[in-house]
Amino acid sequence: MNLSSPVRFIKGVGEARERAFSRMGVKTVEDLLFFFPRRYEDRRNITPLSALTVGSTASVVAQVVSFEKRSTSRQGLEIASVLLSDGEHVIKAIWFNMRKLEDVLTPGVRVALYGKVEMRAGPQLTNPEFEVLDESDPESVGRIVSIYPATAGLSPKWVRRIVSSALELYLPEVGDFVPPEIREKYKFSALRESMMELHRPQGRESWLRARNRLAFDELFLLQTGLLLRKKRRASIQKNSGPLRPGEKFKSFWRSLPFQLTKAQDRCVREIMSDLASEIPMNRLLQGDVGSGKTIVAIAALAIAVDGGAQAAFMAPTEILAQQHFFRLKTLFAKLDVRIDLLTGSLSQGVHKKTLEAISSGETRVVVGTHAIFSAKVSFKELGLVIVDEQHRFGVLQKNALLAKTRSPHVLVMTATPIPRTLTLSIYGDLDVSLLDELPAGRRPIKTHRMDFSRPQQKRLLDFVRDTARRGRQIYWVCPLIEESENLDVTAAYSRFQNLREKLPGLKIALIHGQLPSDEKEAVMTAFTAGETDLLVATSVVEVGVDVPNATVMVIEDAVRFGVAQLHQLRGRVGRGEGESHCVLLAGKTTPEAAARLDALLSTSDGFKLAEMDLRQRGPGEICGVRQHGVTDFRVADLVRDRKLLEAARREAAALVDKDPELKNARPLAEALMSRLGSTLELAGTA
Ligand code: ADP
Ligand code: MG
Repeated sequence: MNLSSPVRFIKGVGEARERAFSRMGVKTVEDLLFFFPRRYEDRRNITPLSALTVGSTASVVAQVVSFEKRSTSRQGLEIASVLLSDGEHVIKAIWFNMRKLEDVLTPGVRVALYGKVEMRAGPQLTNPEFEVLDESDPESVGRIVSIYPATAGLSPKWVRRIVSSALELYLPEVGDFVPPEIREKYKFSALRESMMELHRPQGRESWLRARNRLAFDELFLLQTGLLLRKKRRASIQKNSGPLRPGEKFKSFWRSLPFQLTKAQDRCVREIMSDLASEIPMNRLLQGDVGSGKTIVAIAALAIAVDGGAQAAFMAPTEILAQQHFFRLKTLFAKLDVRIDLLTGSLSQGVHKKTLEAISSGETRVVVGTHAIFSAKVSFKELGLVIVDEQHRFGVLQKNALLAKTRSPHVLVMTATPIPRTLTLSIYGDLDVSLLDELPAGRRPIKTHRMDFSRPQQKRLLDFVRDTARRGRQIYWVCPLIEESENLDVTAAYSRFQNLREKLPGLKIALIHGQLPSDEKEAVMTAFTAGETDLLVATSVVEVGVDVPNATVMVIEDAVRFGVAQLHQLRGRVGRGEGESHCVLLAGKTTPEAAARLDALLSTSDGFKLAEMDLRQRGPGEICGVRQHGVTDFRVADLVRDRKLLEAARREAAALVDKDPELKNARPLAEALMSRLGSTLELAGTA
């Protein structure tokens, strides 16, 4: 029995509880030791019921006086209403649809409750968290009590008890992987003490020190892993020789449709020097919406083609893949390069032929969706992979596709300006090229908020009509309906009908993800050619779509989108010379949603907006790595722990530099393997 044994081996944990623990990510004894409380309740001084203030969140202890249950006329709603007293005053607590409460909250039982105090007929707690107190359980009263993340099938009391006994038995076995010099440098308290402190805090100060130490551990481990991976990559020989620009690149370069910005030029040069090296490129091209990433990618493709390698250019949506495909066709028209489009919805015959051309090496550039990396596709000599809008794919998928090939050069691009803390955590092993400049002549997009009232609707429709009359084009994006893509489509369809009635004379088209591939293509081609005035769309146009003549973006029910999405959608306009507008439609809304809209109204700086998004939604959502686990820290918090992260990065870099094999840091090597081995594909590193 050791730290990596399943929790089931701990006395008292049977199959049911093991399942419950597993839902919380606790699988091994070690996981359990690192399963830290979600919050703490100070039960040393309980607020007497007489001192409760309305609107505050309070922790109270009281005895059940009576229990009553009733159903309302509204179907299925059951209300449990419990009167509690501390001997002098009473408080009411109510719960909706909580089954079996009557078995637990019997008169005479003492309970700790935690929730917001409201004033009804008297003071009341609605749906409070609660715990039946057991006077024989010394951990639950008269001290700071740890409240662990709750899940069905695990009572708080019981979790505390199990964690206590696990701590007693196994804490001594937890080893510290942070090298002693670093521990001394930062004056960290001992690891086991820190873990104990998180489970059973002595006070605010000591708790804070302990949590910082443990947060550092996590960040340091990840940074070491990422830097080692980067180092190891550098030692892999790739299968193609250096890729250098030749005739095709030169011809393309001479006939560029516009003058590159300084930033674009710099990024192309950085990529060029990577491609000419023996070490496979692993680069992130980061630039706000509209900064012109596509042309940089295309320059890289031209170099790859010159160097004799096949190249793949992957986009997250079919619409975007098609757009890239046509653009590439135009730009490479004179170069005699076979380019093929590969998406999931090609007809069987075409699909088969395309696969053959790819594996025979006839196809030099493949543009497509993730279909490019399905099991059936095999390249003859893949030398460069470009992933557009990387954040839409998630890290895992990228790794899956790389596993299929022998270390090609990789360029990932993202329009989500990723805050530095996240870049370091997720892309810590990538080199970064930054497009920090917009093409000349862009005018700032004017952003407006309007509601659905009649006068405003009329104003908006007049504005749309006028825009079309001036020869410009309009996007009208319909709400994203979380529950179902079908509902999205229905909503978009009825808006389409409605706008056709209200705007007679305008050419209006509809696009959504469920249209057959050739129809999508036809709709987009017509819009790009300026044959359509107004395009009603679901959020499929969120990423990448580029029609410079479109100058108005209307986003319906804007509160349903996150900050980053709104920024992306807004980025569909303001791409040409015309003055552009973005209209956010929203009625009355919650304070959080209003704050999101205000943020968009106040700035068009993608980085500022991304920082805000990170705070509101957390890292996983932003970069599409939720399932990936890289940012699933137990203690660390990428928003709050920026300084710690920088320190961890510095220390990890120094260490990896000095001792790349971790010869003098065996515990660290082992921790990397056991905790991050599979996520980072570090097998064989340590
Ligand atoms: P994103 O970075 O969002 O992918 P795109 O590559 O789609 O941006 O470029 C946005 C628009 O700007 C496109 O219409 C593109 O043709 C145009 N563009 C890109 N670079 C320049 C430039 N240097 N000068 C003028 N227009 C440019
Ligand atoms: Mg793009």
